[in-house]
Amino acid sequence: MATHAEQLTPPAVRISGLTRSFGARDVLDGIDLDIPAGQFVALLGHSGSGKSTLLRAIAGLDHQVTGSGELAAPQRLSVVFQDSRLLPWRRVLDNVILGTRGKDAAERGRAALTEVGLAGRERAWPNELSGGEAQRAALARSLVWDPELLLADEPFGALDALTRIRMHTLLRELWERHRPSVLLVTHDVDEAIVLADRVLVLDQGRIGLDVSVDVPHPRSYRDPLLGEYRERL
Ligand code: ADP
Ligand code: MG
Repeated sequence: MATHAEQLTPPAVRISGLTRSFGARDVLDGIDLDIPAGQFVALLGHSGSGKSTLLRAIAGLDHQVTGSGELAAPQRLSVVFQDSRLLPWRRVLDNVILGTRGKDAAERGRAALTEVGLAGRERAWPNELSGGEAQRAALARSLVWDPELLLADEPFGALDALTRIRMHTLLRELWERHRPSVLLVTHDVDEAIVLADRVLVLDQGRIGLDVSVDVPHPRSYRDPLLGEYRERL
């Protein structure tokens, strides 16, 4: 059920009949998807199922998709990838505010770094950061744009298990504070059900399952209420 706020605000993503082929193969075969403003959605699917292809289409990075609807409707959209994509020749703060304008850019960059737990690392070089810190910086870089929609493609996939859990807490906290719509691509069922309020499964080019996770936050991997969802997905 849509909440009152969701009914008043246009959806962050609205696509219908989205198709993408590579050669003769339809990787996305008529995807219909609405994401209400402010919803935290996870997209699951096995490797090669087309998750990244769908995310790129929503981000407006793919000009060869067909379909209707508002692809990438929000104007303020940020994308985070598995690799931080920090430029090695720029210091952390400069990476975070790259492409932003305004006299207060540095200030906003510092605030974002503080939010992700990297206060004091503004002048560090990217290669001085751990993998987890680099992903924190990538999240800070996405935050300075104050995104309405945050797209994340396996952002914690390269991190060790403990760091990943810390990053889950951080991402959920950032979401609670800023309330962007989130589409988190992951192949990790636990990550999806611990973080998201709605889980989609991409299968054979379609959204095969669309499940709301009605378990209060904060959730932990061991939350017995999540067991039922683990079995369904
Ligand atoms: P996932 O992110 O779920 O692992 P992808 O979206 O990366 O899957 O890829 C889905 C399918 O599309 C795969 O079979 C992949 O080989 C194919 N594919 C993705 N991008 C291209 C491309 N640029 N050219 C050809 N095939 C591609
Ligand atoms: Mg992928």
